[in-house]
Amino acid sequence: MSRGAFFESVSTYFDRAASFSKIEKGLLKQVKTCNSIYRMRFPVRGDDGQVRVVEAFRAEHSYHRLPTKGGIRFSRMVNLNETVALAALMTYKCALVGVPFGGAKGGVRISPASESEGFRERVIRRYTAELIRKNFIGPDIDVPAPDYGTGEREMGLIVDTYKNICMNEQNAYACVTGKPLTMQGIPGRTQATGQGVYFGLKAALEKKELTAQLDLTPGLSGKRVILQGLGKVGFHAVKHLQKDGGAVIVGVSEQEGGIYSSDGIDVEALLRQRQETGSILNFPGAENRDRGAVMEESCDILIPAALENQITAENAPRIQAKIVGEAANGPVDRGGDEILRKRGILVIPDLYLNAGGVTVSYFEWLKNRSGVSFDRMISRHEEMVNREMVNAMETLTGQKLAADRREELILGPDELRLVVSALEETMNRSFGKIYEFWRERDLPDLRTAAFLKAIEKVANSYKDHGIFP
Ligand code: GLU
Repeated sequence: MSRGAFFESVSTYFDRAASFSKIEKGLLKQVKTCNSIYRMRFPVRGDDGQVRVVEAFRAEHSYHRLPTKGGIRFSRMVNLNETVALAALMTYKCALVGVPFGGAKGGVRISPASESEGFRERVIRRYTAELIRKNFIGPDIDVPAPDYGTGEREMGLIVDTYKNICMNEQNAYACVTGKPLTMQGIPGRTQATGQGVYFGLKAALEKKELTAQLDLTPGLSGKRVILQGLGKVGFHAVKHLQKDGGAVIVGVSEQEGGIYSSDGIDVEALLRQRQETGSILNFPGAENRDRGAVMEESCDILIPAALENQITAENAPRIQAKIVGEAANGPVDRGGDEILRKRGILVIPDLYLNAGGVTVSYFEWLKNRSGVSFDRMISRHEEMVNREMVNAMETLTGQKLAADRREELILGPDELRLVVSALEETMNRSFGKIYEFWRERDLPDLRTAAFLKAIEKVANSYKDHGIFP
């Protein structure tokens, strides 16, 4: 797979969607282009005492809304084109689900699994210092988050580095999201992308017209699911599909190989096994399979949740799923996309389906800026209202509620429940809008509808801001 393939795919998806719009050419060009790119090389001392030169990037794709927002990836595969394509996807993703940020993305070219904790810490601290030096980070400027190969620990190190250098910044904690809870993170962020994938698939399968078209019964219950990539996103997606949706996870593939069981795989037990042994293979009750072959087994929903370019013109003819849910960014390239569309397989595109992560990042950023957690902000007033309501209910019905139920109703939801219900609402509402737009405009597929909707929103916001009087 060539390095530019992902970039070209995003560009093709943009152009195809843009061909259905009436927006003037110059403005379309502005919406498509990447506004700033910072490419850096810096020295970091390795564990053996030798200096190593590390290459890294940050791309800020669109300033139509500020701050810009997007994760930081640690991977050997990181390159400029990939970073720019991922930043562009962030712009469209945010626009689509109503998160008021421009898109950005960062990447550091190291292989995290083969580096020590100490080395990764030195890298992320130095990377943060480089971003500060060029004004590429800040609560109102550009706000990173986790992505492939990074997590809470790195986000904590970013905020720690940032607040020690930018000591006058009042909102320092809002310079990055996905932080540990002890460092002003928000409950539910770690699982947000995966849980968002679950809510997104649930919303899609509730559309009876759509399920009829795919020859599926409505709802998630009993649907056979295959997952590629048991990372943070993939694991949480299938965990919720299994536990809350009643779906059956029949296949999982990872770097070491794949497993398949028509009776279903307990994904929590599978994750425990992988954490203990380093492998998903030889899982009780499942057969070992070749890594690529698992994706080609018969199923209702295939979820690629690893990296880009996993379904291409080469393997797309053999995919047997009815729905491909893009949990990763860019897992289907343009050649693969074309074939899936012709074969009537529904692709639920990344820019919608994995937007749960940035949605909850937005809540975290808001919370950091207001300096108070959400449940605390609303609880006093709600408690009063709820107490009145419960009292009235009891008087009206003449029945007393059990003490714990009464307490639950009066206190209202905790922060995690608030976050999860806002996430569900966002995913539901956004699917409804994209779906209607797809049908109303008679567009060829859901991806084109999602891209076009996002493009129109970004283009309109340029107009709203009077940048082009
Ligand atoms: N890296 C995630 C994504 O690709 C989350 C970005 C964020 O939370 O800012 O959507």
